[in-house]
Amino acid sequence: MPKVLFKNVAVLDGTGASPFAAQVLVEGNRIAGVVPEGATLAAEGARVVDGNGGTLMPGLVESHAHLSFTDIRVGTDLGNTPPEEHTLRTSTSARILLEHGFTSCVSAASAKPRLDVAVRAAIDAGDIPGPRLLTASPELTVTSGLGDARLSHIYQESFAVVQDGPDGFRRYAREMCREGVDTLKINPSGDTLLPRARSGQTVMTEGEIAAVCSVGAALGRRVAGHARSAESVKLCLRHGVQIIYHANLADEEACDLLEAHKDRVFVAPTVGWIVAMLERGPEFGRACERKERAILESELEATIETMRKLKRRAVRVLPGGDYGFAWNPNGSNARDLEHFVSLLGFSPMEAILAATKSGGEMMMMQGQLGQVRTGYLADLLLVRGNPLEDVRILQDKRRLLAVMKDGVLFNYRAPQCPTLRSSGN
Ligand SMILES: [Zn+2]
Repeated sequence: MPKVLFKNVAVLDGTGASPFAAQVLVEGNRIAGVVPEGATLAAEGARVVDGNGGTLMPGLVESHAHLSFTDIRVGTDLGNTPPEEHTLRTSTSARILLEHGFTSCVSAASAKPRLDVAVRAAIDAGDIPGPRLLTASPELTVTSGLGDARLSHIYQESFAVVQDGPDGFRRYAREMCREGVDTLKINPSGDTLLPRARSGQTVMTEGEIAAVCSVGAALGRRVAGHARSAESVKLCLRHGVQIIYHANLADEEACDLLEAHKDRVFVAPTVGWIVAMLERGPEFGRACERKERAILESELEATIETMRKLKRRAVRVLPGGDYGFAWNPNGSNARDLEHFVSLLGFSPMEAILAATKSGGEMMMMQGQLGQVRTGYLADLLLVRGNPLEDVRILQDKRRLLAVMKDGVLFNYRAPQCPTLRSSGN
């Protein structure tokens, strides 16, 4: 079995402990040993990676990934992309996520039915580089809901599949299970800048939500809900949805329910999308109007308030920012950790634990993924500097000296490399 020995590193192990000087041995795809610097390890024949005092930490987990959202300006950009080009571009996003330190992704929807499934198969076969991927269906939505781009005089595709009534949702959910998705994605609430279905409106019926959840339960798949409105959060939780995206307009009752289900539910607010839309949307002709900016600002405020509340209630809130749009492209995903610190009241350690330890749990690999511990899967980042001092350094690809996924070094660059020395911060 191939061996890799990381030495001269500070291990940030993802348990909450302070970084400590250690050596880490990887054998095959597992961490075979973590010992204090200076202790001996059975590392004969190992390739040695000298960390030069850098930080060795678990790979990051993106909790709301859209590998097939190819840095688009509007949803119909996805509908207009033919499947062949779309598959290639989705595989490019997979490589980009991995080279930015994301060794795992929970997909929050595939823009066409089989993009996630096909790309994941190629990653797992070793044909293309990419993160571990839990695949998703397209967004299942209702007529006039988020992702329905049709006009009455013209048919247009976007990123969603439109169904109406429990039978339609049930049949499509079963079809997606047949095609091999891990997660069924539904859009029970409206969205921020959608004039016909606002964030506070709940557009799917209880029967439609229940139909998808019953398919998920019968066939062993999780359901993820785009749930901004309080009512949509409650309906999702009552019917067993395990992944709640956004949740920013959750009221007291919805927060109580989230707390009651905190052992099986994950929340990802996707704060990155809103922040980036406010910052850069106008460059792409989005969020230019004062009215739109006011809506975005009030949704951001609600996100901050609700997530601070949920954090106090020990609900698992994870970074994952709906990257894959022109203003927040795939690859900039680590910005979400900065937002968790600067906006949501997380310490750098808490933000990192949310993206690693909790991320491993959301990947359904608790006890195997998301920490640097003996026996765990070897998904590791070697970072120049200490992200506890400044979590923003994780956004700088030049500081990621090595990315390892499943025991394979993806882009190791020795720290003494002259281009790195001159690259600054
Ligand atoms: Zn999304």
